[in-house]
Amino acid sequence: MNRSYQLFIDGKWVDSVSGETFNSFNPATGEVNDIVAEGRADDIDLAVKAARKAFESGPWHEMSPSDRGRLLNKVAQELWRKADDLAEIESRGNGLPIKETKFIAIPAMIDVLEFYAGLANKVQGETLASPSDRFNFTLKEPLGVIGAIVPWNFPLMLTMWKLAPALAAGNTIVIKPAEQTPVSILEMVKIFQEAGIPDGVINVVPGYGSEAGNALSSHPDVNKIAFTGSTNTGKLIMQAASKNLKPVSLELGGKSPNIIFDDANIENAVNGSMFGIYFGQGQVCASGSRMFVQDSVYDQFMDEFIKKAKNIKVGNPLDQTTQMGPQVSLQQLERIEQYVATGLEEGAHLALGGERCKTNENGYFFTPTIFENVTSDMTIAKEEIFGPVLSVIRFKDEEDALKKANDTVYGLASGVWTENLKRVHRMAKGLKAGTVYVNTFSMLDSVAPFGGTKQSGFGRELGIQAIDMYTETKSVWVNLNDEHFNWYG
Ligand code: NAP
Ligand code: MG
Repeated sequence: MNRSYQLFIDGKWVDSVSGETFNSFNPATGEVNDIVAEGRADDIDLAVKAARKAFESGPWHEMSPSDRGRLLNKVAQELWRKADDLAEIESRGNGLPIKETKFIAIPAMIDVLEFYAGLANKVQGETLASPSDRFNFTLKEPLGVIGAIVPWNFPLMLTMWKLAPALAAGNTIVIKPAEQTPVSILEMVKIFQEAGIPDGVINVVPGYGSEAGNALSSHPDVNKIAFTGSTNTGKLIMQAASKNLKPVSLELGGKSPNIIFDDANIENAVNGSMFGIYFGQGQVCASGSRMFVQDSVYDQFMDEFIKKAKNIKVGNPLDQTTQMGPQVSLQQLERIEQYVATGLEEGAHLALGGERCKTNENGYFFTPTIFENVTSDMTIAKEEIFGPVLSVIRFKDEEDALKKANDTVYGLASGVWTENLKRVHRMAKGLKAGTVYVNTFSMLDSVAPFGGTKQSGFGRELGIQAIDMYTETKSVWVNLNDEHFNWYG
């Protein structure tokens, strides 16, 4: 049976102003999961007004930082209690295998909330060096109303990356989920509400990007936009945000290099690189989708890699043994097929997969796919596919690897597999990316800043640093002289 969801504005569940709704699909079956109220510009405006009011006055405004932290910890406790339910809702909504939501995405998401709950009463300014007749200090203040625009690949986790530091620092927020996956976020917000988050502090307006998303990013009373999604949409958001010069943080796409040297532990490199590309069906912004393998170890490495990739179990995301679920939507599935066709046309060798998964006709399932003989000028080496499609490129030596790895407009993540310590440090400096993984890939931790360079965006989420993205430094001058100097006589 389909469930219906409303918008969440000012602590209340409401229909959209237009009364319109849209369908949210189950990617494993292609059937309608839920019916969701469709927010547009009018609804965004109501949500921003509620968030403004909650920011400027009322219980949230008055709450001490310690109490804010305590409240966020209380929410985290509730989230742990309901973690299995949330994992299932997330997997139903976007097709992630339950093993990945239950053991990775949901625990990581709650850990982020706990991390920032602990920071709530550690957001502080500084006393500055000043002469004896003056006192200079800084206040570290919340920005105000935050707009968060999030994608469908890890809806809960990527929302929490924004929500937790924003609230810890005392802001209020309006969230625009991806049209494919609004439901898990609405369910999570219920838990915040039940734990006692004051009305208007969190507002969720599902809807389409071109309408609700655009209204949020161009809204004159929003103080910052935090976005995760595609590079193209990131550019549109930056333009829209320029209307009132609100700052933006953009966590965009990638085509991350993963480099296997001949002195690597091959078994580890095979296992880690497979996780790097097939985790989340390849719908991971940091996925290691360009794999560089050194000539001298190429055949041995690729034999083992292909043998293992062949055995990945694609199937029902709610089955505990499933290793890869469906792609999120028919549109994404068709996009991936198009890239495979382009790869073949441009002369790459299809070593594995490349087609829809035959055992599941109605869902959006795709086979683990590997292209060999890829060159850096091919489309499948340049563009983000966002699916389980790996492009493999050979290299000669360290210099060749670095040159090829950095030959991209993106700069989100990168990986190096080697037992040579000096090479580790040379590569860590040489790779142009926000993250360098050494002898691992696609790892995340609340303590470790995450973000990109070049067209993968800017700003760092997670870690203590992310508080800076949700606060402003105010510089205060206090004159301690009894008289002010008389400059004009
Ligand atoms: P997208 O358009 O970037 O979607 C991300 C979010 O932005 C969604 O909430 C989307 O709403 C919203 N949005 C879209 N247009 C907007 C606009 N003009 N103004 C404000 N917000 C807007 O990504 P997508 O279309 O779902 O996926 C396309 C490709 O993006 C993927 O194939 C992949 O390459 C990349 N992608 C990257 C990430 C990442 O983590 N870096 C995540 C998802 C997708 P709607 O849901 O209504 O479109
Ligand atoms: Mg879209």
